[in-house]
Amino acid sequence: TSNVTTVRDDSPLLPKVKNIIAIASGKGGVGKSTCASNLAVALAESGAKVGLVDADISGPSIPTMFNVESEQPAVKQEGGKNIIIPIEQYGVKLMSIGFLTPADSAVVWRGPMASSALKQFIGDVEWGELDYLLIDLPPGTSDIHLTMVQTVPVTGAIIVTTPQKVAMADATKGLTMFQQPQINVPVLGVVENMAYFTPEELPDNKYYLFGKDGGKTLSKKFDVPFLGEIPIVQSIRESGDSGYPAFYKKGVTEKAFHHLAEELAR
Ligand code: ADP
Repeated sequence: TSNVTTVRDDSPLLPKVKNIIAIASGKGGVGKSTCASNLAVALAESGAKVGLVDADISGPSIPTMFNVESEQPAVKQEGGKNIIIPIEQYGVKLMSIGFLTPADSAVVWRGPMASSALKQFIGDVEWGELDYLLIDLPPGTSDIHLTMVQTVPVTGAIIVTTPQKVAMADATKGLTMFQQPQINVPVLGVVENMAYFTPEELPDNKYYLFGKDGGKTLSKKFDVPFLGEIPIVQSIRESGDSGYPAFYKKGVTEKAFHHLAEELAR
C-alpha cells in the first residue's frame, strides 16, 4: 500500500546495534532458519556480538535449532516497562515466540498481534551492544515484513532460496518486495541452499537434486550479489533437529557459513 511510512533515520530503537540483517525467503522450508542460525553462530565465532530474532511467529524454529526449547526468558522492570532478557546460547542472544508459549501450542494470531509481538522482540528486549541483529522472517511477504521496516532501520536483506523453480518464483517476489520504494531495503544478496546433494564422505560428488544454479541465475537477473551455496548434507538436518548448529561440525557446512559470514562482514 502507498501509505506506508518507514522510520529509518533517527530511530530511537536499537541505537547500539550496528547492523540489522533480515533473512528472508519466498517459500517455506528452503532453509531460511537453518541459514539464519548457522550464520549467527559463524558470526559469533568470528568475534562479533550477535543477536537473532525469530520473527516467524506461527512457526518458530529457532528454540529447537539452538536447543533451548524449554528456556523462559527473565523479565525486568525498567522505567515502568517490562524488558525481556534474551536467552543466550552458543554466544548468540535469542528471542522467539517459542520461549513465551507452551510447546506444541499453535499461535493463531491475526497480523496485528504478530506484528506487535515482533515490535516487542525488537524494542522491549535487552539486546545491548550488537554488531549484528539477524531477523529470521516468516516465509513470503507479510505484515511482519512491513512492521520490521517500520520499526527499525534495516541494513539489508539476505534472500535464501533453493534452486528449484517454485522456490525461485517465490524468492523473486521476496526479493522485489525489498526493492519496492516503500520498503527500500538493500538486498545484500542471494544464498542458494540445498544447491546440490553431497555425501559428506565424498564431498566432490555433487548431485543437483533441485536443479542447478538457480540462486546464481536469480542474483544475475536482479543484479544483486551471489553470497554462496550450501549443499544438502544429512548433518545439517540432524543438527537442526538436535539443536547443535551444523557449523560446528567441521567440513563443508563450516566452510559455507564461514564464507557467508565473511561476505557479510565486507
Ligand atoms: P525455513 O526456515 O525456510 O522454513 P528450515 O531452515 O526450517 O527452513 O529448514 C527446513 C528443513 O530442512 C529443516 O529440517 C532443516 O534441518 C533442513 N535443511 C535446511 N537446509 C538443509 C541443508 N542444506 N541440508 C540438509 N537439510 C537442510
